[in-house]
Amino acid sequence: MASRNQEKIHVSVRCRPMTEYERSHRVKRVVDCLPSGNEVNVVTTTGGLGLTASQLTKTYAFDNVFGPNSSQIDVYNAVVSGQLQDVLAGYNCTVLAYGQTGTGKTFTMEGERTRGQDYSWDTDPRAGIIPRALSQLFDQLVASKSEFSVRVSLLEIYNEEIYDLLSPSSGMVKMKIYDDSSRKGSVVVSGLTEVLVQHKSDVYEILQQGAAKRRTAATDLNEFSSRSHSVFSVTVHSKDITKNQMEEEELIKIGKLNLVDLAGSENIGRSGAIDKRAREAGNINTSLLTLGRCITALVDRAPHVPYRESKLTRLLQDSLGGCTKTSIIATVSPGSDNLEETLSTLDYAYRSK
Ligand code: ADP
Ligand code: MG
Repeated sequence: MASRNQEKIHVSVRCRPMTEYERSHRVKRVVDCLPSGNEVNVVTTTGGLGLTASQLTKTYAFDNVFGPNSSQIDVYNAVVSGQLQDVLAGYNCTVLAYGQTGTGKTFTMEGERTRGQDYSWDTDPRAGIIPRALSQLFDQLVASKSEFSVRVSLLEIYNEEIYDLLSPSSGMVKMKIYDDSSRKGSVVVSGLTEVLVQHKSDVYEILQQGAAKRRTAATDLNEFSSRSHSVFSVTVHSKDITKNQMEEEELIKIGKLNLVDLAGSENIGRSGAIDKRAREAGNINTSLLTLGRCITALVDRAPHVPYRESKLTRLLQDSLGGCTKTSIIATVSPGSDNLEETLSTLDYAYRSK
């Protein structure tokens, strides 16, 4: 991998629309995304304490703030499209969706299908980052006249165990992780299924296969959907066939894009540590906690980053910090009933800048 200066983490916030339930129960809106596109106001108390208006509102600034009316394409263009160029140039990039369960992490990363409409999987206005990234990747690779291969894997980390969601065997098989002796700082997940994507529309079937395995897991493992981390990785090998006078090694570029839908952040407190109640209940998500500590270490330029202390951070070690590009999309709910979690998420995101 080429050397480059250490990159800042790109941090954005996305606030989802009010749900039907919240609207019908007249939940008070406490999150206001400003037209500047990079600030968000949060009303932190509901008044009655004799505070002035300015004391009631807290303003946070981020690289991007996406309001409830923002579209999937807005988010994609602002956060991912540029990173894709880096992946094509042979760098590793990671996009993480962080936030409370029910705030739109999966909507943002994977997206949904619009019912009753005949959109294709990648042009559906509700399609998320994963289908859009694959679609753009194929379009650019085909247009670039290079020889290329695209491989994807999809795994889930639940309770510090890794499961292969694309494994052809039925059920959920625990996978082992090893240090890659050929590349320092990289790991291999032994036996992990890597699917060679021939055409961009193959990805849609891959996602459906993953979804089917997730449904089985959800019946066997407690709160699987909110407590597991989903890691969709795309590895691109490309060789520019127009520059044949160069050395073979210079011609081949290998880039990787990790698209991560994190476990719900509801057990992480405002300080970034596990909430006391959650700790007592044994709800410690080691990977989520360690990710926060690694990000803090990277932001502080600390000499030691504790990548090795969780499965998620070991997996992402070669794609987080250093000369790789990392983006965090923190998702929040607009209503007063989730205020504490929203502040906790915004504080976490703010510390990542
Ligand atoms: P999470 O993965 O964080 O638990 P989901 O992505 O499942 O949350 O979103 C919860 C619900 O909110 C879903 O019904 C989803 O359709 C809806 N939703 C989330 N974000 C948005 C958004 N930006 N626009 C429209 N609906 C959204
Ligand atoms: Mg989800």
